[in-house]
Order: sequence, then C-alpha cells, then structure tokens
Amino acid sequence: MTQTSTKPKVWVLGNGQLGAMLTHAGEPLAIDVRAVDIMTPTDDILPLAPNDIITAEREQWPESALSLQLSTHPHFVNGPVFSRLADRYSQKSLLDQLNVPTAPWSLVDDHTKVETLYQAFGPRVLMKRRTGGYDGKGQHWLKQAEAGDIPHDWRNLAIAEQAINFDEEVSLVGVRTREGQCVFYPLTLNLHQDGILMASIAPLARLDHLQAQAETMLSAIMHELEYAGVMAMECFRVGDNLLVNELAPRVHNSGHWTQAGTHMDQFQLHLRALCGIAIPQPQVNFQCVMVNLIGIDNDPRWLSLPNAELYWYNKEVRPGRKVGHLNLSVPNLTVLTNSISALQTWMPNQYQAPLAWILAEFTKS
Ligand code: ATP
Ligand code: MG
Repeated sequence: MTQTSTKPKVWVLGNGQLGAMLTHAGEPLAIDVRAVDIMTPTDDILPLAPNDIITAEREQWPESALSLQLSTHPHFVNGPVFSRLADRYSQKSLLDQLNVPTAPWSLVDDHTKVETLYQAFGPRVLMKRRTGGYDGKGQHWLKQAEAGDIPHDWRNLAIAEQAINFDEEVSLVGVRTREGQCVFYPLTLNLHQDGILMASIAPLARLDHLQAQAETMLSAIMHELEYAGVMAMECFRVGDNLLVNELAPRVHNSGHWTQAGTHMDQFQLHLRALCGIAIPQPQVNFQCVMVNLIGIDNDPRWLSLPNAELYWYNKEVRPGRKVGHLNLSVPNLTVLTNSISALQTWMPNQYQAPLAWILAEFTKS
C-alpha cells in the first residue's frame, strides 16, 4: 500500500468558517482535512477509514445518518466532551468541581423563584439557555428594578448567573496533546458588543501577570477531560482575578489573530494535536489586532492597509452575521494606529466603539 492511501484524513463535523480554516491549515502538512456539511439533509454516507480522525467545529449538531457516522467513529476525538461542554449546566458543574472560579450561577427549574435569584445574585441576573446560545443569542436579563420575572419557556432550559461587573474580557487559547503536554498563546483581550465578539488584541504585556493563573485554570480543565486539541477559555477580568465565562472545545474566534502574528496558528496546533505531531510553543512575532466583520460588505480598501490579512467567509451579508475577519499585525505601533484610524473613516457606526477601544489600548500612557 502506498503511504497516501494509509494516511488518515481528518473529518470535521461542520463546514463553516472554522472548518474551512482547518482545511487550509492542513495543507502545508499534507493533512487531508474534509469539512462536512451536517446541516443539509442527505442520504450520503462518508468513506471513513478505520484510522481516520474526526473533530468538530461546533459543540452541537443535528442528529442524522451523517452526523452519527462521524460521531460514533472510534477516532472521534473528545467525543464525550462536546455534550458535556455544550450544556451550560454540566459545563458550570465541571468548573465548580475543579474549583475553577466562574460567575456564581444556579439552575432554573420549575421551582426557581425570581426573588431567590435576586437575593442570591443581586438586582441584575443573566439567564442563559443551557444549550444552543451563541453570539449573545440565548440570553435574557432579569432586572429587579423592572420587576423582571422568569419567562415560562425558559424554565428547565436555562441557568441564571450573577451579572459580573468586569474590568474587561480576556480569553486563553491553548492546546493539549493526548499525552498531556499543554501549550498556550498569550492571553487575548476581547471586546464584545451586544454579546458578539467585535475585536481582539494580543499579545499585551499588561496581561502577562495573569498568564500563569489562566494557564493553571485551563490546564486543570483539559487534564480532567483528557482533552486533545485546541480549547478556548473565555474569562472576565476582575482586578487581578479571572473568572471563567465559558469554554469552547474547539478553535475559537478569539484565537483568529494567531493566523497573522505567530509562527503557528491555532488551526495547525489543533490538527497537530489530533494527528500526534509535535507541538512547539508558538512563537509570537508581532502585535496583532483582529476585527470581526459583522453584517458588513467587503471593502477593497481594507487590503490596502500594511500587513492586512482578510478572511472572507463567502456568506451572504446579513445584519449581525459574522462574514469575515480582518487581521492586522505589524511590528510598528504607529503603522497599526494609522491603520485603525483609516478603518474609523471607512467603517460604519457599530465599529466606532471597537476601533476607538483598540486605539485607546495603544495610546495609553
Ligand atoms: P459566544 O458567541 O462566545 O459563544 P455566547 O452567546 O455563548 O457567546 P457568552 O459568552 O456566555 O454567550 O456571553 C456573551 C457575552 O455576554 C460575554 O462575552 C459578556 O460580554 C456578556 N456576559 C456573559 N455573561 C455575563 C455575566 N455573567 N455578567 C456580565 N456580562 C456577561
Ligand atoms: Mg462567549
């Protein structure tokens, strides 16, 4: 048999932008990555080989012959982890079990009284759907001042969380090999607007003192789950403490800056961990900024900016929909701030706050 016929393929549950970027990352290593559309009904069956490897670009998927074929393959890496983390109840329970700090929470069931939630968590309580939420969808604020009550159709389907008055949001993207070796990128600073990630900045020297704390938390989680591959941990920074907001058992939007500013991006690290290829500590070469492109038409001027890299997902542009991201990574901060200033004049209103937030980070004394 030739080498090519025995080399395992990597199949991805889901063929959105993360699947596409994993496919792209496989090319230099000649890893044949196949991102599978699991949303369109089909009677097709995939030609999976016994030594192929299965991963996922999302935590949940509809059940079909195709998704079952992939998720029941013996090499579906992290199989049990997806359902455990896809449900906020079991995810938060895991954090509590490991004593990893997280926003105080409770389950919302038939017996939950809204007064008890206000007593426990204060006058603003955030309900989150246990499953299926993303980009801030699946959230419902309860406000005592407005006599907010638990909507009937949220009972048994949600958790309630204390509103965290955080200083800012950061995330840690790391990888674990099957043998238990972990490496991490530097903490990423993230700005969310209406629950959706707008921009990320990394690395930032002022976050260095939190790196060890974050790595200890994510290592404990990945070891407990015997996880292999890239995982992202979204956190709130409150002073010098980190609280986990949520975990994603996959490559993550807040790690997209690694495509531009490091010698090895999160997509290649994930594939290496799945395929048992050596994992080096990723070298960060430049200051990076990532701007998510949300409900906005492609503007050819973006690519005239120094070192700008555009990832355009080729989706229909709709309000609130992520249609691409723009990475800027330059060694010279003046060049970077000039680029952000140019974007301020080219981009619509909803970008003004995130762009000003980026500029403020680099013009602070
Ligand atoms: P994602 O797209 O990352 O999957 P999501 O919709 O699943 O997001 P979360 O990440 O839990 O939901 O929340 C989205 C955003 O809402 C957070 O990044 C944060 O800005 C805000 N948020 C979430 N939980 C809290 C909280 N307990 N207190 C204050 N703000 C919060
Ligand atoms: Mg989130």
